[in-house]
Amino acid sequence: MTDRRIRNIAIVGGGTAGWMAAAALSKSLHGMGIQIRLVESARIGTVGVGEATVPPIMDFIRQLGLAESDLIRDVQATYKLGIGYRDWTRPGHFYFHPFGPTGPGLGSIPFQAYWLKMFLAGEAAALEDYSIQATAAIQGRFTLPVHAPNTPLNKLTYALHFDACSFAQYLRGFAEARGVQRTVGEVRGVLLNPASGLVESVTLEGGGSVAADLFIDCSGFRGLLIEEALQAGYDNWSRWLPCDRALVVHSEPARAPDPYTLVTAREAGWQWRIPLQHRNGNGYVYSSEFTTDETAANTLLGNLDGRSLTSPMSLRFTPGRRRKAWSRNVVALGLAAGFLEPLEATGIYLIQRGIAMLLRFFPDRDFATADIDRYNRVLESEFSRVRDFLLLHYSRTERRGEFWDHCRSIPLTDTLAEKIDLFQSHGRILREEAELFPIMSWLSVMIGQNIVPRSYDPLVDSLDTHKIHSKLEELRAGIHHSVAAMPAHGDFLHARQIRLGR
Ligand SMILES: Cc1cc2nc3c(=O)[nH]c(=O)nc-3n(C[C@H](O)[C@H](O)[C@H](O)COP(=O)(O)OP(=O)(O)OC[C@H]3O[C@@H](n4cnc5c(N)ncnc54)[C@H](O)[C@@H]3O)c2cc1C
Repeated sequence: MTDRRIRNIAIVGGGTAGWMAAAALSKSLHGMGIQIRLVESARIGTVGVGEATVPPIMDFIRQLGLAESDLIRDVQATYKLGIGYRDWTRPGHFYFHPFGPTGPGLGSIPFQAYWLKMFLAGEAAALEDYSIQATAAIQGRFTLPVHAPNTPLNKLTYALHFDACSFAQYLRGFAEARGVQRTVGEVRGVLLNPASGLVESVTLEGGGSVAADLFIDCSGFRGLLIEEALQAGYDNWSRWLPCDRALVVHSEPARAPDPYTLVTAREAGWQWRIPLQHRNGNGYVYSSEFTTDETAANTLLGNLDGRSLTSPMSLRFTPGRRRKAWSRNVVALGLAAGFLEPLEATGIYLIQRGIAMLLRFFPDRDFATADIDRYNRVLESEFSRVRDFLLLHYSRTERRGEFWDHCRSIPLTDTLAEKIDLFQSHGRILREEAELFPIMSWLSVMIGQNIVPRSYDPLVDSLDTHKIHSKLEELRAGIHHSVAAMPAHGDFLHARQIRLGR
């Protein structure tokens, strides 16, 4: 039997996607004798955004074996417990989308079913009161989970906000220490094998070239290999996702960092505020059909908490995904594989999923079609689930104005329409296989955006009402008691930095 093992991998691009791939592959493929080289251009920058994450990032960090506290210090990170939506449902309204699971079930009846019965009867507190993440975030408090079974602290679920460039640099140090070679150079051409159609090498400005068995395209929006060389195709999803531009600016922090991302609806889109230790990241994501770049810049700059530290940087994107994120011997990750929009901070998560699935279906030099097809189906499903969740936010708000009226007129995907119908009939939420967003996410956003079920699950009537009341009260009181003992988020970070010797 001939040896068909992959001997070398070339990663094109040194943004978040490129260095995440380099770090993860150098760790997972250790001992297999596979050479990994990353090529990045000194002239073409990275997008430099992508500062909010979702909880699976903590698995990525742990799987690499990174020391969480060192990372937090080096990338100026703060903790994130979810997203606060301000003025989104209607002006003056606020709701919170927390990380983490719902409360526990009562027998076989899930939390959302029995909470909903009481909520519809006006006998339950707001959903936020039953989530330790939401309660702590709204009060500006944070602590790490503690191993204390049967207390809400046991399940505290969090992610990070970090400086995107420092994060990539941190991973670069990790990857280079594990043998990843870095070449600074601009890719000018892609050479295909005329018989197999596989990419043989990329040629660099100045004449050099990099050959490999497997290429990871992390070259950003343009998709240098996956699209420009292999024409994998792009599904444009702007009929569902209305925003196509972003302006980004850093500002001085005017207050202690909140342990959540703040999202505020604006006339033609929405604005984010991501608190880091040393600055805030801000951005206005909008639709070019409903406002001009100049008005958008004025809106963003006129709504910063602190003094701006940079001039606004403009980014354009077409929401959607690469039709085949893996084609022949090229796997696209990051913006090269697609980009939906930043509302729920899923870009880095989708990179992580791409890497995990690549390892799951790791090829040999025959590049079996079955593996590639399955990889593409999994990624297609991940992107579609995220798209539906994003569309939910846009399609169900009571805001007025041309942009928001347009959002309400966007036809739902069949999958989202079914999800909303199921919820509206009896408050049911089904989590699809391997879906990022748990039941609590869907529940928070649907309730937050005033989608109220007509009725509750009839099986809840099998429970004694007093039992439900006392369970809800026990949950609420336990959460409030635990949160009251947590330090302020800023103090927690400060204490950690002191312990780290700063
Ligand atoms: C406005 C906005 C906000 C976002 N916010 C979030 C968020 O909060 N959370 C989140 O998870 N995600 C977010 N994302 C997505 C996230 O930023 C990206 O997923 C992430 O940064 C990965 O980018 P990348 O590495 O794919 O591409 P890039 O950062 O664009 O890097 C591309 C790399 O390719 C190199 N390159 C390009 N052409 C060549 C060439 N010819 N030769 C050699 N090298 C080349 C460049 O030098 C660079 O190193 C956001 C994206 C946008 C646009």
